[in-house]
Amino acid sequence: MSLMQIAEPGQSQKPHQRKIAAGIDLGTTHSLVATVRSGEAVVLADHTNQKLLPSVVNYPEQGSPIVGHSAYNLAVSDPHNTIASVKRMMGRGIDDVTHLGAQFPYRFTDKRDGMPELITRQGIVSPVQVSSEILRCLACRTKQALGDDVDGVVITVPAYFDDAQRQATRDAARIANLTVLRLINEPTAAALAYGLDNDKEQVIAVYDLGGGTFDISILRLHKGVFEVLATGGNSALGGDDFDRNLANWLAEKAGLNENPDPQIQRYLLNQARDIKQQLSDVESLDVHLEYQSKSGLSVQWQGEINRTVLNELVSKLIQKTMMSCRRSLKDAEIDISDVGEVIMVGGSTRVPLVRSMVADYFQTEPLVSINPDEVVAIGAALQADILIGNRADNETLLLDVLPLSLGIETMGGLVEKIIPRNSPIPVSRAQDFTTYQDGQTGLKLHVVQGDREMVNDCRSLAEFNLTGIPPMVAGAAHIRVTFQVDADGLVSVSATEQSTGIESHIVVKPSYGLTDEAIMEMINASMDHAEDDIAARRLAEEQVEAMRLVEASRAALAENGRELLSADEFDALVKSIDGLEALSKTDDHLAIKDQLEALNKESEIFAAKRMNISINQALVGSTVDELAQENR
Ligand code: ADP
Ligand code: MG
Repeated sequence: MSLMQIAEPGQSQKPHQRKIAAGIDLGTTHSLVATVRSGEAVVLADHTNQKLLPSVVNYPEQGSPIVGHSAYNLAVSDPHNTIASVKRMMGRGIDDVTHLGAQFPYRFTDKRDGMPELITRQGIVSPVQVSSEILRCLACRTKQALGDDVDGVVITVPAYFDDAQRQATRDAARIANLTVLRLINEPTAAALAYGLDNDKEQVIAVYDLGGGTFDISILRLHKGVFEVLATGGNSALGGDDFDRNLANWLAEKAGLNENPDPQIQRYLLNQARDIKQQLSDVESLDVHLEYQSKSGLSVQWQGEINRTVLNELVSKLIQKTMMSCRRSLKDAEIDISDVGEVIMVGGSTRVPLVRSMVADYFQTEPLVSINPDEVVAIGAALQADILIGNRADNETLLLDVLPLSLGIETMGGLVEKIIPRNSPIPVSRAQDFTTYQDGQTGLKLHVVQGDREMVNDCRSLAEFNLTGIPPMVAGAAHIRVTFQVDADGLVSVSATEQSTGIESHIVVKPSYGLTDEAIMEMINASMDHAEDDIAARRLAEEQVEAMRLVEASRAALAENGRELLSADEFDALVKSIDGLEALSKTDDHLAIKDQLEALNKESEIFAAKRMNISINQALVGSTVDELAQENR
């Protein structure tokens, strides 16, 4: 028998220690993290085996922010302090955000320039901070799963995120103390996940319908390289809009007037989402709405809803996505019949009508074999693994495109485009300008992003001055302006007077309102709190989970406890619920956890009986034959 070799703790036996790299899909509704293990990309789950982390952050009375499912459950009871869909605000102005028509129940400060600021009970927070909480939570999950800190991440962003939105995403990662290897476009990640980089040369369309956004991207695989031919879509269209239409329909059925209070709105939206998702699997189901808000307003309605009703409520929205597809194909100068594969991404592509309309439009069956929620994170993980150096050979080269044209302001408030949109990045272009006045010694350069002709219709990225030009007659100076866009889509601009070599240079940091100092402060604050954060967060999450279970159990008991349980069983459950409620107000997290488990166990039989009832209800309307078909 040979002796076992024992390594010093912390010392690796392997000659080349693998680095930990992760791919993060930072979504509007859900976020998730994946990593490559033994050559295969896997999505990481939390301790309750959930892979999708709701992109929701709650700012509680005390302690660190709560992220994910617990926060999502607080949206109804605490709408002002529970921030969802923050991605829609990243790098945008308050006017952009209100333009989106999104009915956010939050309170904004009255700051007009830069990114909106949210008023929570823990103070004013920016969307970048909210996003950093989500990233931190995913990093923590990775550490728990792999036992070590993450060395680097690839974060995905929608293809047409502009410079400000990309920069905001990077800043969020910085605040969460993460090293960003690269930002990549979500559709490109999806194509990587399907391994289409090893496939034949062809044109690929990526149809991504998520919770808050729709993206269509036309890629071409050419000599082992993905080239993005065109991108398009709608940054304010997604499954949330399906929910809204259905919630309005439900409100009308329940006889509510135009604007119910935020709690009722949230309740209806949550119900609508549930119903919509179930209708992806069953043809019809029975719905029972019952809710009373704190302000005393109540909803009550019971009835059947089937897929046809949902289809009617959403078909116009899906039609809109088809129009974006047509526009992008035109941009790319590609005929529908030349599209080889269509990849489906995003939870909303589970809606059967979406699948059939896409198949009809592209005249081909879309790829759906990889879970549409996970496909982007998986592609990002594969790319992260390459970028961190875990795979020495055959890198997949990524070419993304610039989503919007870049240019500078010229006389009369006009835009001179220097790099047109859809140019593959990284890219560098120069153009020569001259002075317009005799003896002019300085020049102001205004960098803008957008495709409109007038400066006022584009987004202003930065202004900078070139000074010290020797006095010359108008038109004699030779000023070369160079634009450079790196692989992340970040822009730098420089200007040089050719005859003297005087140079001025700027890395464009979009002016969305966060200064470097502000970011440093946030980073420091998050480090200060790091130690007590974990314990405080765990306690807060358990308290919230306890209260949720208390409320849910009481509601269930009130609904049909008497009819399904014996008097003894009923009383025992009541006692157990009361016990949990009392504990949830203490900070004894172990006791709360134990009692949570105990109550969950005690109510198993009751839950099973209730489940039977709801299954029976859901099956009404489907014949046994239909069910057998679906199970095949
Ligand atoms: P995002 O990238 O915007 O975060 P996701 O790709 O996670 O979005 O998609 C979330 C959307 O998908 C939500 O609107 C959700 O309701 C919807 N969704 C998830 N599962 C289903 C389903 N089974 N049927 C219909 N829609 C679904
Ligand atoms: Mg997504």
